[in-house]
Amino acid sequence: MTPVRAASGAATGAALGPGVLAVAALLVVLLAAAVAALVVQRARRRRHDAEARALAERLRRDACHDALTGLLNREGFLHAAAGPLAEGGAVAVVDLVLLGAVNDTLGHARGEVFVRLAAERLGTAGTAVAADGFVAARLEGDTFAVVLPRVDGHDAHRVAETLRERLLPPYLVEGVRFEAPVVVGVAADGPWLADVPAGAERTAALLRRADVALAATRAGGEPVRCYEPSMGERAARRLRLIRGFSAAVARRDVRVDFQPVVSLGERTVVGVEALARWDHAELGLLLPDEFVPVLEATGQIGELTSFVLDEALAAARRWLDRGMRLSVAVNVAVANLGNAAFPDEVAQLLDTHRVPAELLTLELTESGVSSEREVALPVLRRLHALGCRLAVDDFGTGQSSLAHLRRLPVDQVKIDKSFVLGMGTEYGDVAVVRAIVEMGHTLGLQVVAEGVEQAAVRVALAEMGCDVAQGYLVSRPLPAVCFDAWLDTLDVRQGEPGTTPGPRTLIA
Ligand code: C2E
Ligand code: CA
Ligand code: CA
Repeated sequence: MTPVRAASGAATGAALGPGVLAVAALLVVLLAAAVAALVVQRARRRRHDAEARALAERLRRDACHDALTGLLNREGFLHAAAGPLAEGGAVAVVDLVLLGAVNDTLGHARGEVFVRLAAERLGTAGTAVAADGFVAARLEGDTFAVVLPRVDGHDAHRVAETLRERLLPPYLVEGVRFEAPVVVGVAADGPWLADVPAGAERTAALLRRADVALAATRAGGEPVRCYEPSMGERAARRLRLIRGFSAAVARRDVRVDFQPVVSLGERTVVGVEALARWDHAELGLLLPDEFVPVLEATGQIGELTSFVLDEALAAARRWLDRGMRLSVAVNVAVANLGNAAFPDEVAQLLDTHRVPAELLTLELTESGVSSEREVALPVLRRLHALGCRLAVDDFGTGQSSLAHLRRLPVDQVKIDKSFVLGMGTEYGDVAVVRAIVEMGHTLGLQVVAEGVEQAAVRVALAEMGCDVAQGYLVSRPLPAVCFDAWLDTLDVRQGEPGTTPGPRTLIA
């Protein structure tokens, strides 16, 4: 049957003729073209999809990575760290504390080279995950975050120390050798984070705590610190001080106490040192050792100095009006010396209170005049030219030598109280104090001993020829009203007859 049908089909084709065949051929060609177009279109779409996927991947990578180093960025770190932290671990925040110096000396491009060199020591070239499973991110500048997987509270300090050692060796940037100080704050996962959900949220909590520990290294001088809950309280307390300071000044919760300064020879009260106090509504009486460093770190110290200067000069005016010529000493911060407008402010305040410039002494710390010397010198010269006296405070604790002081427009040196307090028991301290007194006098400086608590020390200082003393033996710092009352208890020696109304001399 089949051959017969075929034969009949062929007979039909022949019967349809060449026209039909041509149409059929055309259809075949069209079909082929359509198929080809479809294939091309599919291929194009596939390519397009691949490109879109690659683009999306790149965008995702960019959003999670730091363009300069190839490490993760903060966002990327929060997500990527969750995996390695799943079985517990710690987060370290590492600050190399050097980028500013490299930028300043060699420019920003070289600064970037330095950051890349540091990043290479943390991650394996261009990737965030190093062979040891560390996941590293650049948070900002030369500050990095690193996950330390399976590291618990006992090991955290030791592992953070090895991380630090990796970053310590000197960096060679364009032939210049830099040594980075490198500080590390570390926080280990633990039961105290149990109520924080695992994942990005837990990483963020660890990162915050590692940051608090890092801040503690800056305050405390130890290069590696593990987070302790009390650090969080301290950080919160600092934040309260930062936020509350200006309002406290306005409310007059900040005040100035006065501590007398007496001449060792004649035992007369020659002046006072103005010392800031903050009577905090909730935290109680705060001393400057707590709030001054906080204000220095935030740039609010200028506001404190202005307030203390104003109060001190107002007091000097009051005493002048009562016939007492007392000099006032005000502590100034390094930031004040970097402010070119500071001498104008001082001149303005002296003018407002009608106080002669020579009655104002500005006390600078030893580190203030040595580290920022280039910045400070023009400001110091202008203050001196106004007629103010300049004193170097806490002398003996820093690096500067008396020979260095010779190059500064300084009138007075205050021996640090630690040596004076030690004079009663330590022979070495007696020798240091004697040496400072002698060298100070050789340089034509007035020498002040502070921290005089014992009568025997006062006698010894007088014998050495030290000029002036300040300390609890004479009086603690007192609020203005109490200080005035204290003055009233003193013996008065009136000025020489004929020089009326001579200044009242008070014997302490
Ligand atoms: P300083 O300038 O060395 O001030 C002297 C400190 O020694 C004062 O502490 C004073 O109360 C204390 N002192 C005085 N005599 C004795 C003594 O016999 N024995 C002992 N143990 N201590 C004595 P205070 O008032 O707590 O001030 C601490 C530091 O805070 C000051 O050290 C000064 O560096 C800084 N400071 C105080 N007020 C200001 C301010 O208005 N501005 C700035 N920038 N710093 C300030
Ligand atoms: Ca002082
Ligand atoms: Ca001092």
